[in-house]
Parts: sequence; structure tokens; C-alpha cells
Amino acid sequence: MKPGDAESVDLLHAAGRVLASPVLADRDIPPFPRSTRDGYAVRSVDVSKVPTTLHVIGEIKAGQDPEKIPSTLGNQQTVSIMTGAPVPSGADAVVMVEYSSVRGDQVEITRSVEAGENIVPRGAEARRGSPLISVGMRLNDAAIALAASAGKSRLQVYRRPTVAIVTTGDEIVDVDSTPGPTQIRNSNSYSLAVQTRAAGGEPVILAVAPDEAQRLRSLIEEGLKSDLLLLTGGVSMGRYDLVEQVLSEMQAKFFFTGAKIQPGRPVVFGRCGSGKSGGGAATHEQASTYFFGLPGNPVSTMVTFELFARPMLEALAGMEPRALMFVHAKLKSEVRVKLGLKRFLPAILSGKLEQSQVELVSWQGSGDIAATARANCYIVIPEDRDHIPAGEFVAIMMR
Ligand code: AMP
Ligand code: MG
Repeated sequence: MKPGDAESVDLLHAAGRVLASPVLADRDIPPFPRSTRDGYAVRSVDVSKVPTTLHVIGEIKAGQDPEKIPSTLGNQQTVSIMTGAPVPSGADAVVMVEYSSVRGDQVEITRSVEAGENIVPRGAEARRGSPLISVGMRLNDAAIALAASAGKSRLQVYRRPTVAIVTTGDEIVDVDSTPGPTQIRNSNSYSLAVQTRAAGGEPVILAVAPDEAQRLRSLIEEGLKSDLLLLTGGVSMGRYDLVEQVLSEMQAKFFFTGAKIQPGRPVVFGRCGSGKSGGGAATHEQASTYFFGLPGNPVSTMVTFELFARPMLEALAGMEPRALMFVHAKLKSEVRVKLGLKRFLPAILSGKLEQSQVELVSWQGSGDIAATARANCYIVIPEDRDHIPAGEFVAIMMR
């Protein structure tokens, strides 16, 4: 992302966006030594032997007028204090109210505390001027809360990259049409649009391309005007799979053509000039756009987006690159597959707390959207395993 590609948005609209200008602490956090408990602010030496009785010289609530905070604590003195209130100087710990019983201005303390206990020192979370949120972070609930705490009601975020979506196939018809007996409604453009949005991009759904080179080429040219182009279908070995051929004719550079995975084996990735520049190599380079040719089977499309297009899109969105992350869960029933391909199979993760377990959904292969809609994750099966017994921990990719 270039610096000029940033915009200012209000705090709530910044959720899910990528930060383009750092957020700094406008003051120490916390701005005063903060009590984390309701109780009594004490000098820890005064309560080293318990039970002991202290003299209560005042009360400090959260937001207390600073004038009304005792300047210091003397021997055997204490103040009643509330969570979030400033600890007076002289006190070095807070005894929880649960370990006290008060009678008039005397309080009996029944538990010792160490120096520093139940107090967050001034500036312990962040120093004034230090960076709180760095450029490239995708803003989540905690980041928005942090920005709010630093008084930022507006944030600079990167523009969302545009993602053109071109689906291909003579059999594919629009969602509103009544399909003929051998026709299929377009579902890939919709799953890709949803995945694109979730990854921080702005989908631009283009027309369905027939399996015909001329029309496909003009839709690819249209798609290359976006920041990223996603094609689905037409990348397998069939006679009418024209995507690679047309892109080659357009002088596309391919970085890979296929992956040892299932679903999604025929996936291709490359870069292609928009066709507009027509200039020398450098100009051509500048005007080029990354593209993915994703296999047309709906589950292949979804999986290959997650594995390949999402990281690319995140990079285009200005995010710090990060590795794909897989969590692990215990396999509920055994899995048997053929060797040779890394598999990402639709599965259901269930169970409570640390008892989570995962199980494949039964499916009819990578065209089975219904099975995938019942699933909430994919089990990742390494290419060198043809059998995984129940009870083993397996990697899963969330969706
Ligand atoms: P292809 O990769 O073009 O060989 O397509 C593989 C399978 O995916 C075929 O059964 C296609 O009908 C199906 N398919 C391709 N594109 C779409 C789409 N946009 N929506 C739903 N199914 C599709
Ligand atoms: Mg096709």
C-alpha cells in the first residue's frame, strides 16, 4: 500500500480495517497508580503480622477529586479504596475488602500483602508517547478499545483493496435464472465475495465468462483493473479449461501452476499486465496485477482462497505478513485417505472447553457445498498419512 492510499474513518468504522498511521499513548497508562481491587490501601509493613488493626483516615473512589486524596499515609494508617481509584502516596499495596472488617474508623486486616500487590504502577501498561498500535495491524475489538482509551475518535486506515471476481464455465448461470437441466447456478462468486470481505477486500463481481477465449480475455482485462483478480473454474486439464491458455497469451507470468493439495490441486498464481500500459518492461511491471486461477469446484474454490488468496489479499491490504495458523483438536473418529496430497477436509469441531474434538463430515467430494455448509472447519491431513486413528491430535483450519 502506498501512503496516499489511506483514509480517515471514525473509530467504530475502523474495526476490521488495517491501521495506516500509528496510535501513540497520549499519556501514561494508567495515568496514576491504579488499585485493581476494592479494599484498603496500606503500607505493606503495617500488615506484615496479622490480624492487625489500622486507622481509616479517608476514602478514595474512582475519579476522586485529587484535592481530596490524602497526601501520604502515616504509621498504621489506611484509606478505604475502590477498584480503579488512585492509590495515595505512602501506600504500597491494597488489601482486598474480603480480608477486612471495619468498626467505625478502625479496620481489622486479616491477611498480609506484599509491596505492589493489587496496584498497577503509573505507566506500567504504556508510557506517554510510546506506540500502542502499529501500522499494519488489523483493528480488532481490543485495538479499537485501546485507540478509544488514547482519545482517538478517528483513525487513519488503508483503503480496502478491490478484488475482481470472474467465474468461468458454459454451464454456469446467474443466481436469479432458472437453470436448464444441465446448468449450475453460480455460487463461487458469492463465496469468494464473502471471503474477500472477511479478509479486508472489496469484491467486484464481474460477469460469468463462457468457455470461449475472446470473451474470457475481455473479462480478464476488466478484472486486471482491480488490485487482485480471482478467477474460478477453467484451470483443470479439460479441453475447455481456457484460463491458463488465455493468461499465457496475455504474457502473464506464472509463479505456480498446481499444488499438492486436495481439494484445490489445479490452483494457479501469477501476475499479468493490465494490457493498458503497452510501454516498456518497467511500465508493464508497474501496471501488473496479481491473479489466482482457483479451481471451479465450490469447496476447492473456498479452500484455495483461504490457503493462497487470503494471505495475498492481506498483504495488499497493508497487513503485516503472518504465517497461516492452524489450531489442533482431538480426532473423534479415524480418518483414512490416499497418500500423496495434503488434504483439507470439511469437518465439525465440537465439545466444550479443553474437551474439543473434531470429526469429518461425510461428503461427496469437492463439489459438495451442502456438506461444507454443515462443517465449521477443515481437518488438515499431511500427505504422508493414509490413516489417522481416533484420539490423535490433528491440525485444523478454521473457517
Ligand atoms: P472447472 O474447474 O471449470 O472444471 O469446474 C469444476 C466444477 O465446478 C464443475 O462441476 C463446475 O460446474 C463447477 N463450477 C465451476 N464454476 C462454478 C461456480 N461459479 N459455481 C458453482 N459451481 C461451479
Ligand atoms: Mg469449467
